[in-house]
Amino acid sequence: MKITDVEAIWVSLSEMKLIADSTQQAVIVRIKTDEGIEGIGETHTAPYVIKAIIETDSSGIVAQGIRSLLIGENPLDIERLWHKMYYYTSRFGRRGAVLNAISAVDIALWDLLGKYTGLPVSTLLGGRFREEVSAYASVLMPDTPEEARDLALEIKAQGFQAAKFGWETLGSDLVADRKRVEAIRKAVGSGFAVMIDIGYGLEVRHAIRLARILEEYDIAFLEEPLSPDNLAGFACLSAATTVPIATGEKETTRFGFLELMERGKVSIIQPDIARAGGLTEVKKIALLADLKGVELIPHCWSNDILVAATVHFIAARPAHCYLEYCLLDNPIRRELIKEPLSAVNGKVSVPKRPGLGIELNEEVLAKLTITQF
Ligand code: MG
Repeated sequence: MKITDVEAIWVSLSEMKLIADSTQQAVIVRIKTDEGIEGIGETHTAPYVIKAIIETDSSGIVAQGIRSLLIGENPLDIERLWHKMYYYTSRFGRRGAVLNAISAVDIALWDLLGKYTGLPVSTLLGGRFREEVSAYASVLMPDTPEEARDLALEIKAQGFQAAKFGWETLGSDLVADRKRVEAIRKAVGSGFAVMIDIGYGLEVRHAIRLARILEEYDIAFLEEPLSPDNLAGFACLSAATTVPIATGEKETTRFGFLELMERGKVSIIQPDIARAGGLTEVKKIALLADLKGVELIPHCWSNDILVAATVHFIAARPAHCYLEYCLLDNPIRRELIKEPLSAVNGKVSVPKRPGLGIELNEEVLAKLTITQF
């Protein structure tokens, strides 16, 4: 079997808002073969950049476009192709957007392998420990305690037992943050996991003060309170609070995560399978986390291609691990796949069909595709 094409399809909502919502656009990667079997993957960072990384002509031995590197290759050689992509893009890659592009291709290769063998990705990853995964509802933090309370109640009424509130004005005012977190905890009661996601870089001392407030409300983890590069700050913060510190959605590769764990001393790492290097790389990151005694809870805020990849990955992990489940409802988040992966009573079933076990809705895909840019 040979790869005949690597398509990078840019999808976008008609209106883009500058908010913390990466479901507004994506690049869908479709790998085609001479045997007619196809695999799909996705990433969701700056589609114009991702398309360029995949489609560019080569400008030197270690500055090659991913599409040209893969055409004619056997798609079943996933590990070898990962290294080929990583090595031959190394002058403009090794981290960041190139790893996001490699992630999308890698997910598509695993989907293709599953379709070729007739096995679900979770079986290829070593087998399922569970048939459904526990999801936490992931939402943006409302402005007022009343709105936060109402949202928390709505999430609980949908059957979730865990929720994360993030971004927006969080982190700018300790008093306002306390009020909203207090309202949420009061609304959901004890025994419901509440997480807080800051999403940008606070000062270390401010983050310590916030973490100590959150200790009073039994917060399951505090996510991304500092700049991703402030590893010394993460170590200092982790030592100063009992709230588990989580981060890693902007990090890529096993090298980046090893440094984050060794120097940042965080309790939880959050690789995003569509950013950090795909299933091939996140498997390795998971092994490192296991060896270091660090928990791994993948970041997952995108369309159902990433959700499917993440669900298969979690199903094949021995330890309990939450699925991040974005509650937003737009055509990219909820309609790109024929049978959306919905949370029922806070659980998402692991698809049973070969590969990722999902199918693109070609009509919706065509409507969302950007062809003029
Ligand atoms: Mg986050």
